[in-house]
Amino acid sequence: MRAVDIIIKKRDKHPLTTEEINFFIQGYTRGDIPDYQAAAWAMAVLLNGMDPRETTDLTLAMAHSGDVLDLSGVVDIALDKHSTGGVGDKTTLVVLPMVVAAGIPVGKMSGRGLGFSGGTLDKMESIPGYRTDLTTEEFLTQLKEVGIVLTGQSADLAPADGKLYALRDVTGTVPSIPLIASSIMSKKIAAGAQGIVLDVKIGLGAFMQTLESARELAELMVAIAARAGRRAIALLSDMNQPLGYAVGNALEVKEAIETLHNRGPADFREHCLKVAAHMLVLGGKAQNEAEGRALAEQTLLDGSAWDEFRKLVQAQGGDVRYVEQPERLPTAALQEPLTAPQSGYVAQIHARLVGEAAVVLGAGREKKGDPIDHAVGIMVHKKVGEAVEAGEPVFTIHANDPAKLAEARQMLQQALQISATPVEPLPHFYGVIGE
Ligand code: URA
Repeated sequence: MRAVDIIIKKRDKHPLTTEEINFFIQGYTRGDIPDYQAAAWAMAVLLNGMDPRETTDLTLAMAHSGDVLDLSGVVDIALDKHSTGGVGDKTTLVVLPMVVAAGIPVGKMSGRGLGFSGGTLDKMESIPGYRTDLTTEEFLTQLKEVGIVLTGQSADLAPADGKLYALRDVTGTVPSIPLIASSIMSKKIAAGAQGIVLDVKIGLGAFMQTLESARELAELMVAIAARAGRRAIALLSDMNQPLGYAVGNALEVKEAIETLHNRGPADFREHCLKVAAHMLVLGGKAQNEAEGRALAEQTLLDGSAWDEFRKLVQAQGGDVRYVEQPERLPTAALQEPLTAPQSGYVAQIHARLVGEAAVVLGAGREKKGDPIDHAVGIMVHKKVGEAVEAGEPVFTIHANDPAKLAEARQMLQQALQISATPVEPLPHFYGVIGE
């Protein structure tokens, strides 16, 4: 078999066999197939697509390019969740403790933010001392002994995806539904997940801009899970405006802590309850979503989810004083409001522009490895559909640099649209796939 023949076959719109896909992924992981051939192949896949069988083969080939965790001796069912990425999405920080408090131990591997979309690890690292680099050994021990883990993905899981994703990032081959689906699912499968709740975001601040493309991605990921002997359910959720009010690492940790204390923004709380409810159904703790939601809500009401979050921080070396008194978390030197230029109704808070403004402030990174400032970010005070008075604060910008603050202010002015006539609130969810 030769890599060039596999590229030509895909270029000419033919499906690849399981053997060809395995050959290509194994060869690329080992370094026998160079980046230029992998780039040509990725572009052929982007242009000509893959059917569900090919995409499943690709997923499994990438999942098996490194270690595949088997958590069956550690937990009864290995649950996981995955968000396709968004702005203000701190869901894992609340959902993980809720599910654990409801009786299912969970060990989760998360990622970092890239571009306008935030990452769970960066948020957790706002807490001094918190380690996101547990070894596989430490991961398993903590899962067994403490019942909750939230760390980075170890390098030996799905290395083919790590390599291919970096290549796609610089060759214009990220926005391909089969490549995205296999990238996400290979990591979930390698991390040992048996039941997965996928949170597929749609809108201005998401990879998927339309309901149709999000539905296609969601259906494909659910089908891959089934073919791979796992169970998945996908929620289609809104990402036209930021989730909750906080955007930026320490600000988001504070909002997650508020929510764990049964306060927090209504949309974010609702979002967490829905994700947790579906995880509890997949995990066999609840018969249906309503039962799962009630169980999850109870963990917020009785403080048990908060106790699990504290336990998690402590187990991973974080200084719990910072989460018990969140005002101790990193705080920006400059905090300035941006007010509404006119009265009316909020018609748009453009999620991507808010996310990009947060990156300009230093909350995110333009490219892998850039340093970030945990203190900075944006508090959004309004949701689409709400009435607003001229001069009322719509955002508070948290900055450590006046020039960056001025730039973010300009971007946020663009993100905000006010209508003179009433505007419908945005839905939180557009559907569920695989129920
Ligand atoms: N997230 C991933 O993990 N992979 C992709 O290809 C896109 C988003």
